[in-house]
Amino acid sequence: MYDYIIVGAGFAGAVLAERIATQLDKKVLIIEKRSHIGGNCYDEVDASGVIVHTYGPHLFHTDNQKVYDYLSQFTSWHEYVHEVVAEVDGNIIPIPFNFNTLYEVYTTPKADLLKHKLIEKYGEGQKIPILELMKDNDSDLQELAQYVYDKIFVNYTAKQWGKKPEEIDGAVTARVPVLTSYDNRYFTDKYQAVPSEGYTKLFKKMLTHKNIDIALNCDALDRIAIKDNTLFFDGKEPPAKVIFTGMIDELFADTFGELPYRSIELEFETLDKEFYQGHAVVNYPNEHDYTRITEFKHIHPAATQKTTILKEYPQAYQRDVNTPYYPMFTDENQMKYNQYAAFAQQIPNLLLVGRLAEYKYYDMDDIVARALEVFTSEINI
Ligand code: UDP
Repeated sequence: MYDYIIVGAGFAGAVLAERIATQLDKKVLIIEKRSHIGGNCYDEVDASGVIVHTYGPHLFHTDNQKVYDYLSQFTSWHEYVHEVVAEVDGNIIPIPFNFNTLYEVYTTPKADLLKHKLIEKYGEGQKIPILELMKDNDSDLQELAQYVYDKIFVNYTAKQWGKKPEEIDGAVTARVPVLTSYDNRYFTDKYQAVPSEGYTKLFKKMLTHKNIDIALNCDALDRIAIKDNTLFFDGKEPPAKVIFTGMIDELFADTFGELPYRSIELEFETLDKEFYQGHAVVNYPNEHDYTRITEFKHIHPAATQKTTILKEYPQAYQRDVNTPYYPMFTDENQMKYNQYAAFAQQIPNLLLVGRLAEYKYYDMDDIVARALEVFTSEINI
């Protein structure tokens, strides 16, 4: 009855379902383990009357026109330019570390000197990963790098990953570079916005189609079997492909071992006050067990006298106990993943897409772009 089976109703699954249903006029069944669509982008209006992101803050940002235009079919946008601050030594300072931060933490003559040296060495308007700045041979810039490393990165990264910054993939800390500009924005992309009525509504609009059925609270692994390089669903070979966006190790019964993830315990609190903090996100690199506090009212404004905040406590991922959020990049894990990917490649009616299936730290726009690309290159051929 269905042409395509899609496992998972996050962005990867939803984009592919929408494309297949509308562009190919084929029938799709989405199987979703949770009780809702939207994956980790899921949000809802909570008791304070504010839209909160149930799985932690999701700030959409992209330079990809195609992705922005594609998603704009399903939502209007509330423009929201994300700015983050960190509490360091009792002061609130802008993150990523930029010239505004520089002048807040150093005296003016010292900041003048460092700014001059940074521009001379790296140019204006540049993004320097902290681990790169640490290698600078100028003693003043070394001191600056050490300050940023010590005050902003080392303890936050210890909380977030249980590791030192140099022990994790350089691309992760490079997400928050030192900026040689006065730009306080967390992202520099052209489009920065959240869906006006939240992500869940966006997903609903994408998936409401006569060709799409959704089975919630349904574990696809109970219905999938792999035999002789063919994937069977409910004992039958589906007419077209099975698109799997879940955990690749779980799909293959941990044949090559479990792929590690980092998880987060999320603690929401609704307060009887209009606002709790001055920014949507305040990072706490050095104090407390949580990494950051998000106040959603700054992201989705609401006319209410209450507010909801979220504290994030990173922790180890445990299968069936908590949620896998971040793949843990090490050479060893990547090799393990490669074994799974090679195995999957031998199954012609299986497609793997998404953060969990590809073991990649995709941002939302990246995964939408990836799903659109998979549709063009591997489905609509
Ligand atoms: N990071 C840090 N201190 C900060 C912000 C970020 O050490 O104040 C590091 C940390 O290792 C983190 C990475 O930079 O995992 C990427 O941060 P980002 O805010 O992009 O993470 P996400 O929002 O995806 O959790």
